[in-house]
Amino acid sequence: MAVKDRRQTVVVDVGGVKVGGRHPIVVQSMTNTDTADVASTVNQAMALARAGSELVRVTVNTEQAAAAVPKIVDTMEKFGVRVPIIGDFHYNGHILLKKYPECARALAKYRINPGNSDIGRKNDDNFRTMIEVAIENRKPVRIGVNWGSLDSALLTRMMDENSLLPEPKDAREVTLDAMVESAVQSAQAAERHGLAHDRIILSAKVSGVQDLIDVYRALAAVCDYPLHLGLTEAGLGSKGIVATTAALAPVLQDGIGDTIRTSLTPMPNGDRTEEVLVSQQILQSLGIRSFTPQVTACPGCGRTTSSFFQEMADQIQTYLRDQMPKWKAGHPGVETMKVAVMGCVVNGPGESKHSNIGISLPGTFEEPKAPVYVDGRLMTTLKGDRIVAEFIDILNDYVRSHYAM
Ligand code: SF4
Repeated sequence: MAVKDRRQTVVVDVGGVKVGGRHPIVVQSMTNTDTADVASTVNQAMALARAGSELVRVTVNTEQAAAAVPKIVDTMEKFGVRVPIIGDFHYNGHILLKKYPECARALAKYRINPGNSDIGRKNDDNFRTMIEVAIENRKPVRIGVNWGSLDSALLTRMMDENSLLPEPKDAREVTLDAMVESAVQSAQAAERHGLAHDRIILSAKVSGVQDLIDVYRALAAVCDYPLHLGLTEAGLGSKGIVATTAALAPVLQDGIGDTIRTSLTPMPNGDRTEEVLVSQQILQSLGIRSFTPQVTACPGCGRTTSSFFQEMADQIQTYLRDQMPKWKAGHPGVETMKVAVMGCVVNGPGESKHSNIGISLPGTFEEPKAPVYVDGRLMTTLKGDRIVAEFIDILNDYVRSHYAM
């Protein structure tokens, strides 16, 4: 199924990165360091940016964190890493943004959670204060509703109203309705306080796959603000990756979602940048954006008793990813290149012909030679123990000749 045109029409400028409309879907991430620890946060934010994160969010939860934000932004600038830094505020955002004006200036966007502000109450001074700071500094905000911290007064009211209906909805449906309502009402309140329509991004994060699909379809139908998409608390390892992909894919295919984040729980001492690679891979697998050349590899079977071809596929994928920062500057379009590394000649040549470059390694008991196809034609046959190095030479030649400036 082809990806439909994007649904949200408003475009928001987040520190020079355009979110919404026909702009490419933006990959973002979040640090898990103590923001008050400038060195650790700078290191992680730079690693996320270098991995391809186009926006990086940090929590701003304490006075020390707020004081650290301008230093983080300055230090990254000094290292030549320019990525908009977003502040995540809960409970005390109104205090921190007022007390630390340099923090308010340094951040590219403020994330506000309506569930722990005073939006919707008669006196919404705290929310209004954050919006006024955003207006003063010409910053956008993301109004980020979260299932785990949904405005309880709004939910209670909607549950009560629902119970009076002749055919009441179930609690799950009312909760999802309340999330949409909370996001939209908060955006309307922000506009009443003077924030421009094109300075608002919305999100409604849940941790269930089907809940995410339903809530974003409902939210996209009632507003034109850009939407930040992500499955909250996706979890560890393959569970987190699969759940995020299962949730985001149908929604993205519907044309919903203008910026995405994969909320993986890293393994102890794990690499935080994995969440960036997963987001990129989701978009690339769906044919929405390309980030790095893709390697197609067969799963292997009894025809290959050695692990050579799996190792080769891994080496080639790693090589391609490592070259991307350099290639991106000098070889536009290289990110769309397709490479096949196949275990034997059963499906190898066929798959190779569908790729820009493909190699079929010899299966067990097959003659020890590896045909290489370039643009669908047999180019050469590699033999011996330098197959990987020679294949990489062919790849480099291809990139130089096909993706020149
Ligand atoms: S290409 Fe060959 S090795 Fe790979 S799965 Fe198919 S038959 Fe098995």
